[in-house]
Amino acid sequence: PATSMEELVSLCKRRGFIFQGSEIYGGLQGFYDYGPLGVELKNNIKAAWWRTNVYERDDMEGLDASIIMHRMVLRHSGHEATFSDPMVDNKKNGKRYRLDHLVKDQKADVQAKVAELMGADPENFAALVAALNANSAQASQALKDAGVRDPFSGEVGDWTEPRPFNMMFKTTIGPVADDDSYGYLRPETAQGIFTNFKNVVDSTSRRLPFGIAQIGKAFRNEITPRNFIFRVRELEQMEIEFFCTPGTDEEWHEHWLEQRLKWWEAQGVPRSKIEILDVPKEDLAHYSKRTYDLMYDYPTLGHEEIEGIANRTDFDLGSHTKAQGELGIQARVDENLDSVAKLTIPHPETNKPVVPFVIEPSAGVDRAMLAVLSEAFTKETLENGSERIVLKLRPHLAPIKVAVIPLARNREEITSVARAIKAELQGLGLGRVLYEDSGNIGKAYRRHDEVGTPFCVTVDFDTVGKGEDPNLTDTVTVRDRDTLGQERVKISELSGWIRERLR
Ligand code: ATP
Repeated sequence: PATSMEELVSLCKRRGFIFQGSEIYGGLQGFYDYGPLGVELKNNIKAAWWRTNVYERDDMEGLDASIIMHRMVLRHSGHEATFSDPMVDNKKNGKRYRLDHLVKDQKADVQAKVAELMGADPENFAALVAALNANSAQASQALKDAGVRDPFSGEVGDWTEPRPFNMMFKTTIGPVADDDSYGYLRPETAQGIFTNFKNVVDSTSRRLPFGIAQIGKAFRNEITPRNFIFRVRELEQMEIEFFCTPGTDEEWHEHWLEQRLKWWEAQGVPRSKIEILDVPKEDLAHYSKRTYDLMYDYPTLGHEEIEGIANRTDFDLGSHTKAQGELGIQARVDENLDSVAKLTIPHPETNKPVVPFVIEPSAGVDRAMLAVLSEAFTKETLENGSERIVLKLRPHLAPIKVAVIPLARNREEITSVARAIKAELQGLGLGRVLYEDSGNIGKAYRRHDEVGTPFCVTVDFDTVGKGEDPNLTDTVTVRDRDTLGQERVKISELSGWIRERLR
């Protein structure tokens, strides 16, 4: 695995996985562009998630809802009122920080001092943040008295009281910018699932329990985007809302925790690198009864959230439904006089309409990408003493499955065979197969090691009967990324050989 974020960032840029957004105009903080290999890896991760959670289950439907949503959706979901992070300003230079990030960035002694001034346990960061959030006047004083420095200027700051900053992006809809003509870019894909609950139930005749899965972009105006693609303002999520009968929710919660850990393992992210955080009551989101955060051990950052698996109870459907009073909703929900739909489903035993409970496994695609890359990243010293970087990606995730390399790029008899092989392998539908005649073979191998291509197929003079060994006619050399082993394979058997190993 990677030992630092820096080596990952450098590989991603060098080989075309990830670029800074709007780079030629100086870049835009918190936005990234996925390059030629990044888009393949990202698509492969999403496809693997979809395969496992939609195709291989019989209790799941898919959805692709719109990104811009009616403001009423985000009002009744609770996001207008509560989707905010505490922010503090440095009065000396106007810089703004997310409160917990600011404290986390301080030296240990300064952090300990803040904790002491707040009367909080210096060993328990979450408790310290909770204390800071609970008392903003005291927090401002503690930041000043402890000598908290501005990470930007390096100098001791003059800190305001922390205040909530709503992270939703608001945008005007239509040609007239009046008070009512705005909507929000969704801050999570989940809301599109809740608002389509009735459509999906009515069109598929689903009964409890069943889930709806969605992959898509979400937008959060993070106060301090940072750590490469770990915390961005435009992100992508893979979310499931799994609807179940009230009372069975805790069991389903455990089921999903297990399923999700298994899936990460199959992507090359082992259980041993993921800590399961049973989120303390006081840190739970407004909708949650219980949440497991999967904390992956990122290089440089340490354990940080890669996925949250929340029991959202009947809060969301209960908040978005009409006729709330008749439905026996268990969560505390605000009155809704705007919705026109009753979001219920027959109870499997009584057949009476019920608002189901929801278990939500919610994973970030960008954070998944970072973890997958980090686990695959390998530095090896070869027998001849030289070092190579190799991405040991699971084959189903590799951006390029096979590179087909003609040993001489100007010899028609060789290039025509190589092109025919590329076309045949491409036709297997395994993903991208690259015809690669860009330079010398050693360099091509090195590049494909670094981007994780499982196999390189080389067409040489022997292949076309013009080499030393006539027995090698109609065979190619296949080089294995991980073992570096080279094997001569008959062209007629190549498709089967590759298919077997890339499955
Ligand atoms: P954090 O505490 O790190 O801000 P969160 O608890 O707000 O994350 P959730 O609301 O649970 O995150 O979102 C579900 C998932 O979406 C996260 O586990 C993460 O993988 C991803 N995610 C959330 N915010 C971001 C972001 N700003 N950049 C990249 N991925 C994100």
